[in-house]
Amino acid sequence: MTNPVTREEIARAIRNIPDFPKAGIQFKDITPVLADARLFAGTIDWLTEHHKPGSVDAVVGIDARGFIFAAAAAIKLNAGFVPIRKKGKLPFQTHEQDYALEYGSASVAIHVDALKPGARVLLIDDLLATGGTAAAAAALVQRLGAHILEVSFVIELSFLPGREKLKGLPIRSLVVY
Ligand code: AMP
Repeated sequence: MTNPVTREEIARAIRNIPDFPKAGIQFKDITPVLADARLFAGTIDWLTEHHKPGSVDAVVGIDARGFIFAAAAAIKLNAGFVPIRKKGKLPFQTHEQDYALEYGSASVAIHVDALKPGARVLLIDDLLATGGTAAAAAALVQRLGAHILEVSFVIELSFLPGREKLKGLPIRSLVVY
């Protein structure tokens, strides 16, 4: 590529929306990154740069913005795409994993036959905050006997203890706040 995309360019394109969806949350809006062909492609290049076609069996994406990045990365790596969805959305038999939210709890699910034991997996979400979602997703992947090569995020909120929850897994993030 003649003009490689920089982290700074991607960081500049991420839009901060204060108090969305509720007071006190600084929502990181990635839609301007997606809308820019060069920045979107640059993000996918970064997500896949440690891997090559043949070295990854499946890219697992987390509901919902994680799907966008994971699906594009899967195509680039000639790997399958597997969704981890919020509970109640997947039509076939599932495994479920609960995780704690600030108030209450939530649950994510994966199809029981989504990954073969030993499958080499790249796990992708748009953003790492408290780490509850990604840790639950990683637990589901491991429950199927698959091997997580890397957990990648476009954005990490480093003032929250997300990394703590993913201890033992190789974690990468492109833009860190
Ligand atoms: P957590 O489980 O706390 O790490 O939250 C991660 C999930 O919530 C990701 O799937 C994000 O899409 C979403 N999320 C959490 N905080 C934000 C934020 N400030 N801006 C955008 N998305 C967020």
